[in-house]
Amino acid sequence: MNKYVYFFGDGNADGSSDMKELLGGKGANLAEMTNLGVPVPPGFTITTEVCTYYYKNDDTYPEGLEEQVNEALSKVEDIMGIDFGDEEQPLLFSVRSGARASMPGMMDTVLNLGLNNETVKGLAKMADERFAWDSYRRFVAMFGDVVLGIKPESKDDEDPFEVELQKVKDKYDAEEDVDLNVEALQKLVENYKGVIKSRTDVTFPEDPRKQLWMAIGAVFSSWNNERAIAYRELNNIPDEWGTAVNVQTMVFGNMGEDSATGVAFTRNPATGENKFFGEYLPNAQGEDVVAGIRTPHPINKEDEVEDGPTSLEREMPKQYEQLFEIQKKLEKHYHNMQDIEFTIQQGRLWMLQTRNGKRTALAGIRMAAEMVEEGLIDKETALLRIENPENLNQLLRPVFNPKEKQKVTDEGRLLAKGLPAGPGAATGRVVFNAPDAVEWKKRGEDVILVRLETSPEDIRGMDAAEGILTARGGMTSHAALVARQMGKTCIVGAGTLEINYKEHKMTVPGGKVIEEGDWISIDGSLGEVIEGHIETQPSEVIQVLIDQTVSPEDSKDYHIFNEFMTWADDFRELGVRTNADQPDQSKAAVAFGAEGIGLTRTEHMFFGGNRIDAVREMILADDSAGRKKALEKLLPMQRDDFKGIFEAMEERPVTIRTLDPPLHEFLPHTDEEIKDIAEKIGVTEEKVRNKIESLHEMNPMLGHRGCRLGITYPEITEMQVRAIMEAACEVKEAGGDPHPEIMIPLVGNVKELKLQEEVTRKVAELVLEEKGIDVEYKVGTMIEIPRAALTADEVAKHAEFFSFGTNDLTQTTLGISRDDAGKFLPEYVERKIYKKDPFASLDQSGVGKLMEIGVEGGRKTSPDLKIGICGEHGGDPDTVEFCHRIGLNYVSCSPYRVPIARLSAAQAVLKEQGKTA
Ligand code: PEP
Ligand code: MG
Repeated sequence: MNKYVYFFGDGNADGSSDMKELLGGKGANLAEMTNLGVPVPPGFTITTEVCTYYYKNDDTYPEGLEEQVNEALSKVEDIMGIDFGDEEQPLLFSVRSGARASMPGMMDTVLNLGLNNETVKGLAKMADERFAWDSYRRFVAMFGDVVLGIKPESKDDEDPFEVELQKVKDKYDAEEDVDLNVEALQKLVENYKGVIKSRTDVTFPEDPRKQLWMAIGAVFSSWNNERAIAYRELNNIPDEWGTAVNVQTMVFGNMGEDSATGVAFTRNPATGENKFFGEYLPNAQGEDVVAGIRTPHPINKEDEVEDGPTSLEREMPKQYEQLFEIQKKLEKHYHNMQDIEFTIQQGRLWMLQTRNGKRTALAGIRMAAEMVEEGLIDKETALLRIENPENLNQLLRPVFNPKEKQKVTDEGRLLAKGLPAGPGAATGRVVFNAPDAVEWKKRGEDVILVRLETSPEDIRGMDAAEGILTARGGMTSHAALVARQMGKTCIVGAGTLEINYKEHKMTVPGGKVIEEGDWISIDGSLGEVIEGHIETQPSEVIQVLIDQTVSPEDSKDYHIFNEFMTWADDFRELGVRTNADQPDQSKAAVAFGAEGIGLTRTEHMFFGGNRIDAVREMILADDSAGRKKALEKLLPMQRDDFKGIFEAMEERPVTIRTLDPPLHEFLPHTDEEIKDIAEKIGVTEEKVRNKIESLHEMNPMLGHRGCRLGITYPEITEMQVRAIMEAACEVKEAGGDPHPEIMIPLVGNVKELKLQEEVTRKVAELVLEEKGIDVEYKVGTMIEIPRAALTADEVAKHAEFFSFGTNDLTQTTLGISRDDAGKFLPEYVERKIYKKDPFASLDQSGVGKLMEIGVEGGRKTSPDLKIGICGEHGGDPDTVEFCHRIGLNYVSCSPYRVPIARLSAAQAVLKEQGKTA
């Protein structure tokens, strides 16, 4: 005969943890714990096969089930030494669902099963009368609700059991449930039974066996309740799986002062510290701990606070000792931090559940690293345990004090939400323009720069600010990518903010007004804008690596971080470079493990000092001679920039892109700026205005930028190549080892590249000849226009390397403007048109397909062609995995994302090998 019932109890279980398909997750784990010798209240699991049978055969059971249930039941009675239905000492059961995959709260549970008018008296003798009648009335209500399906009849209808409860409370003058005396509880049982009779015409079954079979049927039926069906649909759980039913001896943590119940973790889930940690309540039921009505007591003596509640270790030292040994055993067995539930009934400890515990990112990293050191897991497992590599960020970014953050969130001080563009925490006083940010910072104030959007002129203000907040823009808007590269906390696209520059204030939804100088805090990891000042905590790893204020030996966090990164490097095949425009950014990236620069945006170098004037002079020039004059001013500045970067990067490759400014970002906007530049270049304001008018573009992102600028004005490319090569020669002459890679942007047609390549090589060779120095250099291109990807075989004829510019490639493939996406893209993501923001995580089936075509075409022409990615996607874990799969050589991302990319690249290899956490 088929086996339908799996017994567990007293050190012996028919099942084990690898039988989840048949016993469900809960049943399999109860069996496993039992086999480990852990005290689990005995019981039995009815298999998922019975569920399937039940549905196929009009709610009937297979032959032999009843005998098997009876047999298991007597085994339980033998172990417990008391009988189901016994009027002196009744055995009570819980009946719970348990599917293969966890479906939290979707299906039904019945507790205290086995109580009736007689057994309740027995229970009263075992514990006390009030406890017995309280358990009974709860059971009757639960039976009515779960088994007999008595629910409010409509949305406005009240729960009939609640109505009765209130009536009895009123009658007995009871404020709370706990104020109900025995007589009141007895009345309640009677009334609840009345509800059952009147609503269903069924008499409450007094026979415990009848109760049991009805409850089993109800749990099987709950597999097909609306909630469960909806949950399965959302989580792709097949309908055929069915649920198991677990029938388990009830144990009570509320049977007096020698009873208790609690939850615990084998390691601290917040910090990861390898220390048993947990909370409990004496004389209480499981729900009381979870519901947080009473202040829980600590489990460990050392977690006691002055005048606070006493620990389990002190109150029940014997049970504590036993619990401590059990948790150690469970963690060792499962090789993972366990979240456990326990109950102590009249001095006896019972384990009710164990499962892998949820944890903060930081704790997860620490636990994984320490478990490798302890020999509990291997390095591959540890690397894969960090489910989302972005969480490494928590080791690098300042964070809010979590308690304070929770407090202000509870107080309803959330002002707005935007896109989390630059993770971390920042707090400061609001300013509405960049010069104010600089000035306030000089006075020693911490500021948050709030703008509708940012532009290159804001750069110094952005640098001075603790954090940046904009109302417009998406994940690759100017503010987002500059902030990320600077390592600044930043939120963009907080569209509900109404910013009034003139009056130096902003209005948030609900009408609250935030004025200049008011404190706000921004959480760049969650995109939350919060009113007021929240203390931030600096990251220890940053203090070691960047600030160098803490020595590596003194930092536990650094030790873990470094260890993890070294393991990742051992497995990964992808190279990891960085996007950096300044020597300090380059140095930070190297400290985080960057192996080169994948993108230097030369236009970003014009943000500092008074360089923007020279750039404006160049843009506004009437002819080539005028442009050359401005370019001569820019040449020495650029040469110095490049020197700084070559020096910082030492022997590592440095990819420098020729100028690619969306012109609208560089033009003067305000009257003041126009007046200023007119004076500086000695023309009338009107002339400047006319020029601006003539340069105006309807779609600047698709306008005169990238190589189009170099083709129409080759003198710009010439100046930049000269600056790059002169800088390289100077660094080499001084004993350095620079490796410039000159990159041409926005190529769509090989002829564009050919023209720019000719100019580049001509000037480069000229400089090398002039200097009499030999510097190896490469000329390559970005692939960021669909046509370039489609014709990659031709493009590769003139490129020594490719780098996918997926910001523009996404913009042009999807036909969605990078700068205007904020208005609708969040809704697109919400409605799952795109799974994630395609400017943050690569649209693999669309843009990704073009990349695959590009890789194939490029390598057809040059089999060894080096190919990377330098769009913002280069630091996104899913994208990194994709890049590994399609055979790229490296990814390039902002400095603070370098560790994320290193870990993602390692995970990509491990996943490919079929390894799991
Ligand atoms: C890109 O388009 O992906 C890129 C890296 O260039 P930018 O963001 O500067 O346009
Ligand atoms: Mg681009």
